[in-house]
Amino acid sequence: MTTDIEHLLFIYALQNAVKHDSAPKSGAVIGAVLGNHPELRSRVREVGPLAGRVVAEVAVMAGPERRRLLEELAPELLSELSQPRDRSRDLPALEGVEGGVVMRFAPNPSGPLHLGHARAAILNDYYVRRYGGRYVLRIEDTDPRRVDPAAYEMVREDIEWLGLGITDVVYQSDRLEIYYDWCQKLIELGGAYVCVCDAEWFRSLKLEKQACPCRDQTVDENLELWQRMLDGEFYEGHATVRVRTDLTHPDPAMRDYSAMRIVNTPAHPRALDATVFPLMNFSVAIDDHLLGITHVIRGKDHIANTGRQRYIFNYFRWKPPIYYHYGRMGISGVVLSTSSMREGIRSGVYTGWDDLHLGTLRAIARRGIQPEAVREAVVDIGMGETDITFSWENLYAQNKEIIDPKANRYFFVPDPIEVVVEGAPVHEARALLHPGDLARGVRTLITDGRVLLPEADIEGRGMVRLKDLYNVRITWDGGIPHLSYAGEALEDARRERAPIIQWLPANAKIPCTLHTQDGDVEGFCEPLVAGEVGSVVQFERVGFARIDAVTDDGRVDAFFAHR
Ligand code: GLU
Repeated sequence: MTTDIEHLLFIYALQNAVKHDSAPKSGAVIGAVLGNHPELRSRVREVGPLAGRVVAEVAVMAGPERRRLLEELAPELLSELSQPRDRSRDLPALEGVEGGVVMRFAPNPSGPLHLGHARAAILNDYYVRRYGGRYVLRIEDTDPRRVDPAAYEMVREDIEWLGLGITDVVYQSDRLEIYYDWCQKLIELGGAYVCVCDAEWFRSLKLEKQACPCRDQTVDENLELWQRMLDGEFYEGHATVRVRTDLTHPDPAMRDYSAMRIVNTPAHPRALDATVFPLMNFSVAIDDHLLGITHVIRGKDHIANTGRQRYIFNYFRWKPPIYYHYGRMGISGVVLSTSSMREGIRSGVYTGWDDLHLGTLRAIARRGIQPEAVREAVVDIGMGETDITFSWENLYAQNKEIIDPKANRYFFVPDPIEVVVEGAPVHEARALLHPGDLARGVRTLITDGRVLLPEADIEGRGMVRLKDLYNVRITWDGGIPHLSYAGEALEDARRERAPIIQWLPANAKIPCTLHTQDGDVEGFCEPLVAGEVGSVVQFERVGFARIDAVTDDGRVDAFFAHR
């Protein structure tokens, strides 16, 4: 087995050296091996030392010798070098990744995941895949007021959909005793005190850089008060544990922040009897240490939290993770705030968490956006510190690349009118299910000249061509169109600049509602579409849509993805 790893390291070291025409870099070589051989990720500790040896061996070889060996041992790796770059490898390297990484995704179960979460989830996942190691899902449910019991399951489903490589799952609500223990230790170190001041009063003192009287309590006094907190002797808001930071710190947010508080109601769904809960900065710092987190990638909105959390690391003399903070990301056109979503669902403005006006992952999944497209779009955005706007265009372009080769083609006629094409012979149209894959076969549409057309597309026209069928001459009598058969020649249609439009036989069609963000479009589609529930299809000339359901009365519900 060792020789296998060694062999892999050797050929990737050769590839790296040939690519850059210099001595191979061991971090990059390890990254390439683990990236291409995920089964080795759990053995990252063996890989490190071996890599050092192998890299040294390749380092002393001459350039032509490296190329010759690579050609001989792994010609595919040599030819990879002349291919266009795989963009998903483009993110900057992290520091301190020797020996692999331990990273985490730490959502609050207050609702399902949305595109904002996807950025954190995917960037952290990306680096765990790149460097090997563990990816911890940490459910941050220490605020009973912000826990939606249904969200536990939704978050789990969303993570599965995203395809994150989670290796460990922890629930903070299972760890309350751990936080209590470390809180006690922090008090013993003099790093925290129990404050029983009125919150408003404390805030005004803090803004004046003044200590409150509780700050002068002895460790024993604090320990006693802490015990009384745990014993339920204080009500909500009457006692809090504060981390002793620096009252003169220029940023008031850093001054003696709260680490533990009391919440009497509501009861926590997973810790019914608990009344003392850690605040985020305390539980995050304790867990990042205890779970061995090496790198944290999170948004700029956490910069102040990073500052607060460092105090805890300093008190305990722990080595903090390496932090990266990416810029803000505006996402236009969809609702992202969990509370507005919840309120809108309650009042009936939205149909549910997957309503297509929401930016939840389940809403975009319902429209046929693929998780791989979300991943590509997020990796493209990367972790730059500059604030940016999420590009729906890029997400759609990535999605199209994935679904275009798969999606069967069908006709959907929105806002239809039924017309008779005078003089049309009975005709059997054979339209390809997919123009790029003839083997999939054809849809056969038989018409006797009575057809359904999209009214908007014939408006004011003298000729149209019905796709895969024939040309139709249109004369207008006031606002009334008269249609007549005009032969099959494509050149005639081209000469007259006739648009090629979709159509349906009047006697072989099923009703279809296309749900779009701008409203529902009623129309008809081919009967075969009813067999595509769960799949994405392309409605020709309209765009891609996911077929969501067929109702009991035989109507197709389709959700529009993009053009
Ligand atoms: N639970 C926190 C959040 O969702 C994340 C904490 C962190 O990344 O440090 O904002």
